[in-house]
Amino acid sequence: MTDKTRALGFDTRKVRAGYRSEDHNYAVAVPIYQTASYDLGSVERGRRLFQLEEVGSIYTRIGSPTAAILEERVAQLDGGTAAIALASGMAAISYTLLQLTEGGGRVLSLPNLYGGTIDSFLRVFPSLGVKIDYPEDIHDPISYEAAITPDTKLIFIESISNPNAELFDIEGIAEVAHKHGIPLVVDNTFATPYLFNPFDYGADLVIYSATKALNGHGNTIAGVIVENSKFNWGSGKYPQFEEKLHVLRTVSGEARSFIEAAPGAVFTTRIRLNYLNHLGAALSPFDAFLILQGIETLSERVAKQVSSAKKLITYLETKKEVLWVKHPEAKDSPYKELAARYFPKGTGSIFTFGYGKTKEQRDQFIDALELFSFHANVGDARSILINSPETTHGELNEKQQALADISTDTLRISVGLEDPEDLIADLERAFQIAAEE
Ligand SMILES: *Cc1c(COP(=O)(O)O)cnc(C)c1O
Repeated sequence: MTDKTRALGFDTRKVRAGYRSEDHNYAVAVPIYQTASYDLGSVERGRRLFQLEEVGSIYTRIGSPTAAILEERVAQLDGGTAAIALASGMAAISYTLLQLTEGGGRVLSLPNLYGGTIDSFLRVFPSLGVKIDYPEDIHDPISYEAAITPDTKLIFIESISNPNAELFDIEGIAEVAHKHGIPLVVDNTFATPYLFNPFDYGADLVIYSATKALNGHGNTIAGVIVENSKFNWGSGKYPQFEEKLHVLRTVSGEARSFIEAAPGAVFTTRIRLNYLNHLGAALSPFDAFLILQGIETLSERVAKQVSSAKKLITYLETKKEVLWVKHPEAKDSPYKELAARYFPKGTGSIFTFGYGKTKEQRDQFIDALELFSFHANVGDARSILINSPETTHGELNEKQQALADISTDTLRISVGLEDPEDLIADLERAFQIAAEE
């Protein structure tokens, strides 16, 4: 018998949370509900479903039982109250920003982020009337405070930045956000819930590209938004959550706001009904199943990748042709203290290093690798090496790359699940071939 008063551990939650086989014909694995729509049963039940009086599936664009289990599982891994799964990490980011900046506003963020996020800041949000600001010193919470205006609607950061694995004073930044009545949104993709829980340090919303380590096998695209319901959406600054709406009416016909209709899930319910419903980035049941399957081995995979990353970093630091290594594990990293404070289990398995006197030499090095894959993804079971300035961050101009701290000699590694000795041998061979120039 399990003691019901004891909270289940992380590893138990990652294989079991959100699923009861007795609710699904006693299927042991989470079933893939491959249907577009669901019978409403009776007129009365249909009414209850559409008025949020009863939770249930209606149409796969706005949710499916398979995705609902994924949502519950990720919410429980982070200790959140609700989550929503979407068709990509970019959908999770853009819907969050769209919802928070309705009616205009400003986003306070960092120039050191995933390339696609920066690109959306540059190409999508300004044309919707949403401006992006950056603090002068990304490592100083006081600098964030100085950049907040009455129009600032959120602060957006990554817990471990892409691609250079920079760390930030998350508690200090959260404190500044809350002092000004705005939420802190943390993209926790690189860390995963296994290495870091942003809610423990003041984040209000957590975002994942589930494409990466949550899935862990490089075979689908997905995103998740998690909320913990601590933020007060009723302060007057976000009228979208307070507005009484006919669609949220009670059975007796009284209009309600999202705050009234969806306690514990205000943010994600509005994302579902307003953005997923109308803009349509729905996660298919099959893809939700793949992410769930990946999460079952999250801890084991990430722990091994963290350990292998340390070995690769130690090896690279012995190579005279490697000019620098950026990761909190690197010996001269400025992030030792933040790593010890926030990441006792490690700071992930993605890092960058500088190599190559010339572009030709770098190209030759990459082409000489046999084991490392050369493609734009991270958190895969396979190790990946990529030349970030020309690919993942290639849409940024020289000045923007400099702002994101991406020098032209940057190579990014995402460590997979191979034997680290084989990965080191592959790098060693490629270094020798490239040196023969
Ligand atoms: C990949 C990535 C995203 C975008 O996610 P997709 O699933 O590719 O849309 C967002 N943030 C980070 C940190 C990422 O690495």
